Amino acid sequence: MGSITLEHVNKSFGGHQVIPDASLEIEDGAFVVFVGPSGCGKSTLLRLIAGLEDTTSGVIKLDGVDVTDKGPAHRGLAMVFQSYALYPHMTVRQNIEFPLKMANLDKAVAARKVEEAARVLNLNDYLDRKPRMLSGGQRQRVAIGRAIVREPKAFLFDEPLSNLDAALRVNMRIEITELHQQLKTTMVYVTHDQVEAMTMADKIVVLNAGRIEQYGSPMELYKTPANKFVAGFIGSPKMNFLEGEPASKYAAASIGIRPEHMRISRESGEWAGRVGVAEHLGSDTFLHVHVDGAGLQTVRTEGDRDFTPGETVWLSPDPGRIYRFDQSGLALR
Ligand code: ADP
Ligand code: MG
Repeated sequence: MGSITLEHVNKSFGGHQVIPDASLEIEDGAFVVFVGPSGCGKSTLLRLIAGLEDTTSGVIKLDGVDVTDKGPAHRGLAMVFQSYALYPHMTVRQNIEFPLKMANLDKAVAARKVEEAARVLNLNDYLDRKPRMLSGGQRQRVAIGRAIVREPKAFLFDEPLSNLDAALRVNMRIEITELHQQLKTTMVYVTHDQVEAMTMADKIVVLNAGRIEQYGSPMELYKTPANKFVAGFIGSPKMNFLEGEPASKYAAASIGIRPEHMRISRESGEWAGRVGVAEHLGSDTFLHVHVDGAGLQTVRTEGDRDFTPGETVWLSPDPGRIYRFDQSGLALR
């Protein structure tokens, strides 16, 4: 079991308040991603759960039991960091085995657990290598293996893929998601990358300056963002925002339209503009259009659309997909 509860958790460093008041319920077996811009408090929140930081006030529970005053060793959680933190002089086998050795586990039992973790992570052929003879992705798998053998109540990942190149990140992201499907153990995963959050999470926590802006499934956040921050953070390319006259027509302080819900036409539409940069991705084209009086807006079109820079065009929002926000940025429904 591995449910995690935060009740009014506050964390300050000196006089500097980093987490003002976080309450959160993470169900046993869930894959929950903390996402937000750099410095918003993701690592701090994860380290509070791990017990690596003390709360200033508030309560943290594991499986309903208050662990606020328990040290990391007594919480039964395993943390995986961006820097793999492997022992360079030990083999893969010895690295994975290390926590079991520390716990004085029976040698035969430990060996079996290491073999099993290596099998799950496709590391069987590398057990006798040293970390320096492994790729970045393999090193991160070893770090995960070392967490697996401890059979933790939950895995806590802090930006584990940030040191990997883009292609490897995509592979590892799928591997970690598959690992979760196999183990069915609670995973809490920190990233600044909203694509990782969207693709991996059962539920996403969007953090902004230490505040939980919204907690929900990827599609809930995409379809019904609670406010402008979440609307702008989730989705790629980013949601377009328009203020002033285009918004007041919809009785809102501002409106948001995702690039995939904006239509472009040479003949007619709601807003006139000029084509700026076109980004050709093959499968899609992102057209950046300077709209008169409303700034740069992005349109996502399928395939390779041949608009010329400087060309006059018209944009129109998909009428069913217009997000409305009040003066303070809260979503109007
Ligand atoms: P993130 O992981 O989202 O990038 P962090 O949780 O690392 O953000 O940091 C959140 C804020 O807390 C930052 O302003 C950071 O400078 C501050 N902070 C983090 N750890 C400490 C610390 N040990 N002492 C003082 N300030 C800290
Ligand atoms: Mg961090």
